[in-house]
Amino acid sequence: MQSHSQKLLSPWYDELMQLMFPQRNCLLCNAAITGAGICDDCERKRRLLWSCPRCATFVDEKEADKPCDNCLGHRRYFTLARAAVPYKQLHKQLWDFKNNQQTYYKRSFAALLAATCRQHFQGIAFDAIVPLPIAPLRMQERCYNQSQLVTAVLARDLAISHQPQLLKRVKETPPLFNIGRQQRRELLKGAFVADAAAKGKKLLLVDDIFTTGATSNEASKALLCAGADSVYVLTICSGEQLG
Ligand SMILES: [Zn+2]
Ligand SMILES: [Zn+2]
Repeated sequence: MQSHSQKLLSPWYDELMQLMFPQRNCLLCNAAITGAGICDDCERKRRLLWSCPRCATFVDEKEADKPCDNCLGHRRYFTLARAAVPYKQLHKQLWDFKNNQQTYYKRSFAALLAATCRQHFQGIAFDAIVPLPIAPLRMQERCYNQSQLVTAVLARDLAISHQPQLLKRVKETPPLFNIGRQQRRELLKGAFVADAAAKGKKLLLVDDIFTTGATSNEASKALLCAGADSVYVLTICSGEQLG
């Protein structure tokens, strides 16, 4: 068990290790690569994936022209949500990133998100990138918001302003992975508050996983209520969490 101070030091230690021994393997198949992220082969396969026309849920090609079960009959506040890869392809790496302080994954995740952003949101002039904030209690336990570590790198890579202060999480919620769609929506009501500085901005909201979209939908609603022009959602993966 790491102490509080060890946890706080971890991202800095990790930064140093990354500089000394930069990661040079594909996130998905572990093949040696020259940059961060995934290899050309995995990128080609990734680009063949089909998603719901509105959200980040991956679907079969024949289902790609109609809203998925998560979107059907339910208002979406974001304009469009997209994920890089299915959750099952990255669940171990994400788990280590979130729970085992393996923060060096942030560069690879950011590279993967940058490729996904260029693929789906080409030509959209975002004013700011906003990470999905975690609950204050979880922030205390973990000492860092994993989405924010990734978005800091992503914002630099895409040359978009990084503005984590635009969105705050004001309500604690239990882990949502084993909770049904309707109950998630209830639990998340009023969980986010956005800053007035969001007014008029075209925003890219970034999270690690898109499951039913209830969390990013509620966060998008808060940003629109504060006057944001529009919210696009980008996540590292989508699909049912394994726990
Ligand atoms: Zn690969
Ligand atoms: Zn959908």
